[in-house]
Amino acid sequence: MATDLEIARAATLRPIREIAEKAGIPEDALEPYGRYKAKVSLDFVNAQKGRPDGALVLVTGINPTAAGEGKTTTTVGLGDALNSLGTRAMIALREPSLGPCFGVKGGATGGGHAQVLPMEEINLHFTGDFHAITSANNLLAAMVDNHLYWGNELGLDARRIVWRRAVDMNDRALRSINAALGGVPNGFPREDGFDITVASEVMAVFCLAKDLADLQARLGRIIVGYTRDGRAITARDLKADGAMAALLRDALAPNLVQTLEGSPALVHGGPFANIAHGCNSVIATKLALKLADVVVTEAGFGADLGAEKFLDIKCRAAGLAPKACVVVATTRALKLHGGVAKSALGTEDVAAVTRGISNLRRHVQNMQKFGLPVVVALNKFTGDTEAEIAAVREAMRPLGTKVILCTHWADGAAGTADLARAVLELIEGGTASFEPLYQSHVSLAGKIETVAREIYHAASVSIPPPVAAKLKRFEDAGFGDVPVCIAKTQYSFSADPTLLGAPEGHVLPLRDVRLSAGAGFVVAIAGEIMTMPGLPRRPAAEGIGLDAEGRIEGLF
Ligand code: ADP
Ligand code: MG
Repeated sequence: MATDLEIARAATLRPIREIAEKAGIPEDALEPYGRYKAKVSLDFVNAQKGRPDGALVLVTGINPTAAGEGKTTTTVGLGDALNSLGTRAMIALREPSLGPCFGVKGGATGGGHAQVLPMEEINLHFTGDFHAITSANNLLAAMVDNHLYWGNELGLDARRIVWRRAVDMNDRALRSINAALGGVPNGFPREDGFDITVASEVMAVFCLAKDLADLQARLGRIIVGYTRDGRAITARDLKADGAMAALLRDALAPNLVQTLEGSPALVHGGPFANIAHGCNSVIATKLALKLADVVVTEAGFGADLGAEKFLDIKCRAAGLAPKACVVVATTRALKLHGGVAKSALGTEDVAAVTRGISNLRRHVQNMQKFGLPVVVALNKFTGDTEAEIAAVREAMRPLGTKVILCTHWADGAAGTADLARAVLELIEGGTASFEPLYQSHVSLAGKIETVAREIYHAASVSIPPPVAAKLKRFEDAGFGDVPVCIAKTQYSFSADPTLLGAPEGHVLPLRDVRLSAGAGFVVAIAGEIMTMPGLPRRPAAEGIGLDAEGRIEGLF
């Protein structure tokens, strides 16, 4: 069987200006990066404001296995199928991070016969957006230490600095470091650390900004640390916001690429879905809605994390209202939720699939709570048996939710034509009435409790007194109205990665809360969450290299 990379390499790409033309983007609005990638100018983006919007379709999933269940692949397949049925469709995805690329999961350009191209370039340096975001983050860090060095006029308490450095790599050695060692010429020694770029607040700011002015305003509001008496010091106080915005200016223009079947796709921004909000930029999604009749977009991890944040953070901030929701499931993940060991997921087990449906059922019902009509995409793997597939249909029948078997990974757009028809039916049915889960005026603790109760089915949230005091301080400082971004494991509805299926009555343990004043949300940390992942014993990087012709091998 051909690998993702072999399929991608065998494709004949069309010049990006042809893809742009098809999408209604004139050549003078394109800033080409080579022949197959281009940025779409912000002037063109701004000029589309008055046009009507297409229908937004969210692709989300059940709680995944470590390999991912195929949300990106299904997003691409669905976009291709909609186009092949004659609908003008566009795809809006996140940019991949080098961390997962060289770690366990691999790239994020889809797979099989549903991919965005050129896959090597998108997965590696692409158009340099992550370089710009990392640089803006680290400029601010450099200006913090420089401020201390030159006399600390603002009175920053070196022990209360919260701004960390960033690099787009899984590198556990950088989680906690001592900085500014080496004596007087090197500054004041202090504890510091690195986050992976996709977990940084600059990434979240970049993805939520409406335009350049909003980008700079949000950057300015970023809190870098506190004085001894607890007063917040911002990037604006350090006069760093202008230079950070300058570094990000070109990056803020969305990136246009193509799928294997020639559909236009905007791939722009890439926040993690645990510590950040987990979906592509507002600018790209809004542009796609102006250009296409249907826009298919993905939210990271399971629907409890990614979709909830997409709906409560991004859609609220940007005034978006999805018209339909696709929940991706696989028999292997259902078997995992049905109690099968990771090593045995390849073996037929109809009873386990049926038990595991509890996880899928709850995600579907949760999406309905937001007022979204739902269809289930069963992403077919080669080993799936007829009996397992029938079990999924059978178990979902009482809910009245359609289960569509999708074979886009093997067959391309033809494998998602039924899904595309089902999605069009949901859109045309006009039953969507999107509402965020909670109102902005509810207290921060109240918002966390609402998500825990309604989405995770937790009995309660445990909030230690120092964490409650922090929430109170954020509210007193005028940040009570922002949404909450709950950081927890992607493997379970609960904060315990081993609690699979549809757990009830668990307690969500809040460890800490952090104010992302620039992004405009409060991060609520439940359980052990990595803002800097590590590499596994056998990282994917070991299998990546160049062949005799200098072509990249081993990316997936
Ligand atoms: P997600 O977006 O949900 O994390 P992806 O779409 O990135 O998942 O898919 C994860 C991995 O699984 C990719 O490497 C992809 O090629 C592979 N994959 C997806 N669907 C299938 C399938 N039906 N059969 C085999 N491999 C698949
Ligand atoms: Mg994905």
